Amino acid sequence: MHYDVVVCGAGPAGATAARELARAGVKVLLCEKQKLPRYKPCGGGLTGKTWEELEPGWEELVEDTACRVIFYHREDDPIEVAFDRPVVKLVMRERFDELLVRQAAAAGAEVRDGCRVEGVVEEEPWVRVYTGQEVLLARVIIGADGARSLVAGQLSFRPSRALGVALECELPVSPSVLEQYRHSLLLSYGNIASGYGWVFPKGDHLSVGIGSFSRKVKDLKALFQQFCRRLGLPVSPEAYCRAAVIPSALPGEPVLHTCRGLLVGDAAGLVDPFSGEGIYYALKSGRLAAQAVISFLRGEGDLRSYSSSVQNELLPSLNYAGRIAKVVYSLTPVIHRLVRSHPEVARRLVEVLLGSRTYPELWHYLRARYRIFR
Ligand SMILES: Cc1cc2nc3c(=O)[nH]c(=O)nc-3n(C[C@H](O)[C@H](O)[C@H](O)COP(=O)(O)OP(=O)(O)OC[C@H]3O[C@@H](n4cnc5c(N)ncnc54)[C@H](O)[C@@H]3O)c2cc1C
Repeated sequence: MHYDVVVCGAGPAGATAARELARAGVKVLLCEKQKLPRYKPCGGGLTGKTWEELEPGWEELVEDTACRVIFYHREDDPIEVAFDRPVVKLVMRERFDELLVRQAAAAGAEVRDGCRVEGVVEEEPWVRVYTGQEVLLARVIIGADGARSLVAGQLSFRPSRALGVALECELPVSPSVLEQYRHSLLLSYGNIASGYGWVFPKGDHLSVGIGSFSRKVKDLKALFQQFCRRLGLPVSPEAYCRAAVIPSALPGEPVLHTCRGLLVGDAAGLVDPFSGEGIYYALKSGRLAAQAVISFLRGEGDLRSYSSSVQNELLPSLNYAGRIAKVVYSLTPVIHRLVRSHPEVARRLVEVLLGSRTYPELWHYLRARYRIFR
């Protein structure tokens, strides 16, 4: 079978790229190795800046809306930052991702689930894509296959991402406990190296997790249990728990294209190295990739324009987030005291999540006032 584009992986990055390509009249196949809908370990937190990237329909999937963030240090000494408007909306990823795939299909993309890409070879003027069932020929491949991207490995991209680890549980709790966490995000740092624990409210349960941007963390399960115990959240046998890898962009100028291949979302390491937010970057890079491929297929330049767009539009923010992460995660007790005595710091941080401020602005604000950021 011949396609203009094969997109490998039907998460937010792949589904967005496929939708935009199909909408432009490109013949596109979206391949997903799992049967859809599929579970994805994720807090499902959609920040304010993400909402603008989405097509109508997603609001019906929102399970809770957070208007306040509560920062803890080692599950102690809470600092609440409240807003008079929503900051983060929470979804379950299997339903959210399924909607994005449906939107891609409605735009004209062919969707195949249960279709694992097993090999990719660039052979001008084609890319051969080997699935378990057949060999596909495409003019371009988009690797949207997540943190352990096969496409990145097969097309010999230099790694532009570091890998951390996380453990996430969908935790059933009593209605009274759920009520306690309604409309709030709980973030607790100081309990794991280079990372934090979180509690996010969903419709009928809590999403609870702990993660680190460092791969050196040992015994994630014990740290998770300690986190839950300190919060008084018993992990019942019905809790659905999964470990996952979290990529984060390495500083520098990543090359995210070959002659006929591109990487998007987690496959490209486009995750905020401070918060772990990745859905926004997946949606945005999926859209930027589609734009570059459409121009390429029209004979207007090569795929280099995609790496340049990511460099210009996404990396400044991620690089500043990395700088902030380095200071915050190495000095969590000092940072917590600073936030307690200067609530404006926490407020500005939450405004970055909202999208009303940027990481470069936050960095310059902190640097101008606090020596630890110099
Ligand atoms: C525990 C945890 C909590 C998180 N919480 C948040 C949060 O609250 N908010 C937020 O914004 N971000 C969060 N993130 C990050 C976010 O989940 C990711 O950044 C986001 O899912 C990236 O989307 P993607 O489309 O690039 O990849 P993915 O969503 O990982 O999708 C990749 C898809 O590719 C498929 N695939 C893989 N290999 C193949 C293959 N060979 N052939 C075919 N298909 C393949 C996979 O099955 C998968 O469906 C969290 C991450 C973790 C691990």
